[in-house]
Amino acid sequence: MAFNVEQVKQDFPILDQEIQGKPLVYLDNGATTQKPKAVLDALKHYYEFDNSNVHRGAHALSDRATVAFENARSTVQQFINAEQSKEIIWTRGTTESINIVAQSYGTEFIDKGDQILVSAMEHHANIVPWQMLCERKGAELKVIPVSESGELDMDAYAELLNDKVKFVSLVHVSNALGTVNPVADVIEQAHAVGAKVLIDGAQAVAHFPVDVQALDADFYVFSAHKLFGPTGVGVLYGKEALLNAMPPVQGGGEMIEKVSFNGTTFQGLPFKFEAGTPNIAGAIGLAAAIEYVNGLDREAMQAHEDDILAYAHEKAEQCEGLKLIGTAKNKAGVLSFLIEGTHPADVGMLLDQQGVAVRTGHHCAMPIMDQYQIPGTARASFSIYNTRADVDALFAAIEKVKMFLL
Ligand code: PMP
Repeated sequence: MAFNVEQVKQDFPILDQEIQGKPLVYLDNGATTQKPKAVLDALKHYYEFDNSNVHRGAHALSDRATVAFENARSTVQQFINAEQSKEIIWTRGTTESINIVAQSYGTEFIDKGDQILVSAMEHHANIVPWQMLCERKGAELKVIPVSESGELDMDAYAELLNDKVKFVSLVHVSNALGTVNPVADVIEQAHAVGAKVLIDGAQAVAHFPVDVQALDADFYVFSAHKLFGPTGVGVLYGKEALLNAMPPVQGGGEMIEKVSFNGTTFQGLPFKFEAGTPNIAGAIGLAAAIEYVNGLDREAMQAHEDDILAYAHEKAEQCEGLKLIGTAKNKAGVLSFLIEGTHPADVGMLLDQQGVAVRTGHHCAMPIMDQYQIPGTARASFSIYNTRADVDALFAAIEKVKMFLL
């Protein structure tokens, strides 16, 4: 099965439109991906035929909604090769998943004087919850340095590891730089000192297969909306033994076994962490997105994405005045850049006027921008439906931006 990008593009109806009279070139996939028709149809079908609350109805619609919702959990389980579907917790997204671990695991297992490691290239979602926990517990947040090219300093990491380190939380693929981190190695070294590891897979799962058991990740988190699914739903994977040992974060319906004014007992996994009515349609939409991806030739898809990114780098090197931010050897999906003598916000606005959608700013990763001593970058981020012609359109538009601004 070869990868037919033109066919794939047709699966995404939103891409077939004009912006400012120019064909839309959507290069903001790091912020959110577009949705294939299969996902839009699954959402419509759910609301048209099955909409009901889950796990509690004594009627056919509730049964159908519950089956679809729990099947979606199994689809996610298989997608990341978790051992059991009860290790998949539905959340609102990556941010909420990390907060749940920081609050729940942190409350139970992080004490005064303990150390938590994150890297200098983290998204704010993987910094702030740990800062809040450290403040609450008197623990210390330490930072694994990142090199000029945007790679994790593995020597410095080895030096930071000691038996006070109880937790390492690391991004799999940097949304600001595109760096793919050597997470299996990071996890192995953390385990050797007894630390647990969370991997922020927000930017990883849409680009290449992830196997949480092969990685031996303790926690792995991602958002549906960056994987062709709906917004407002995401995944927290955790090893069963760890999730069982963690207290619930929110109380309410769905997560309880028995409630009385003398005391309440909680459900087991996964419901212990899922208080209230969940995002049922969102979970079903994510499952449809995963099935869509599973229907593609993933090796060919990855080869296509690698080709697009390599082509973009080639063009970037030929582009006078363009400075790449993030030149790691192993990258996925992201081309972050500056145009000498211009501000990224102006570049973004002028690209938009030519139909090219990129993101500009600090990309919720202020510390790494500070390290480069820049306010932000313009970021083109690629997905399965982007073509070499999209890259050509980006660079043709950049030439016009330069003519206008310089
Ligand atoms: N981590 C990374 C690496 C991200 O790219 C993002 C989204 N930009 C997040 C975390 C947060 O994801 P969400 O806003 O979907 O919770």
